[in-house]
Amino acid sequence: MHVEVDRDRCEGNAVCLGIAPDLFDLDDEDYAVVKADPVPAGQEDVAEQSIAECPRAALLRRD
Ligand code: SF4
Repeated sequence: MHVEVDRDRCEGNAVCLGIAPDLFDLDDEDYAVVKADPVPAGQEDVAEQSIAECPRAALLRRD
C-alpha cells in the first residue's frame, strides 16, 4: 500500500508522526511527508490507524 498526503488539508499537527514515527515526518514547511513508500508490510496497521485518526483527513490510501 501507499499513503499520500494532501497538502491542501494537512495542518502539521503531527498526529500521524505520533502514531507511526517510522512512516511520517514533517518537512521544512510543517507538512507531513511519507518516509516509507510503499508502506512496509509490518507497518500497514499503523498506516491505517494514521489515516483514520488524522484530524484533517489529509492522508489518503493508494493501493
Ligand atoms: S495527522 Fe494529518 S494533519 Fe496532522 S500532520 Fe499528519 S497528515 Fe497532517
